[in-house]
Amino acid sequence: MYHLTDVTKCYRRGSELVRALDGIGLYVEDGGTLVVRGPADSGKSTLLRILGGLERPTHGSVELDGTDLATLTESRLSRIRAESIGLVPRRGDLTPGLTARQNVASALVPLRLRPADRWELAGEALEEVGAGGRLDRIPAELDEAMRRRVALARALVKRPTVLLADQPTAGLDDPGARDGFADLLERLWWQGRFTWIVVTEDDALARRAPRLATMSRGTLTAAPRTHG
Ligand code: ADP
Ligand code: MG
Repeated sequence: MYHLTDVTKCYRRGSELVRALDGIGLYVEDGGTLVVRGPADSGKSTLLRILGGLERPTHGSVELDGTDLATLTESRLSRIRAESIGLVPRRGDLTPGLTARQNVASALVPLRLRPADRWELAGEALEEVGAGGRLDRIPAELDEAMRRRVALARALVKRPTVLLADQPTAGLDDPGARDGFADLLERLWWQGRFTWIVVTEDDALARRAPRLATMSRGTLTAAPRTHG
């Protein structure tokens, strides 16, 4: 469960102060999915970095299951990141020299599982996202849609509390591949096993959202679900 109160993030750019997030309040229940749609530069990635404990807000609190990520020590924060937060970065960002299975298993290293268990769980996670036939391929041998599936498996293999995805369908130019990946995301959202927050500029993906909000210049507005 996420509970954000008055989250503001300012960056200094030369002599200018950029207010990337401006007083965000947000509640997402356990197992809920929120999709945040907004144009470029509206603050989406900043919001995800703050939800993921990669950055701290300038003001406000970011409670994950009652713990305020804004004020934790760095060591407790990195533990929470490793155990409880699955992040699907923009474009996936797989490690080029590792196979799909090695990429996914690497997410389990901080959890101190035995190598054999890491290996097995990685195989299962890849199976779950439809990449079970590509375990031993390196990223360069996969198409972009399959790389995104591997990145998704890497985020969910540790069974995190929350999954955060930054523009998961961006750059998937093939409409069939993009729809297939959106189908997979939608199926996972409705399973309710994780709390999801997804930011996107893709209206077709936003239309599938169980709950949709709109980001504009650093502020978040709840929006009714739009049916296509
Ligand atoms: P989005 O992901 O919606 O495109 P961002 O969160 O990346 O938006 O950026 C929101 C605003 O904050 C933009 O004006 C961007 O230039 C600014 N910004 C983001 N990160 C930084 C940073 N590290 N330093 C300075 N400005 C930043
Ligand atoms: Mg962004």
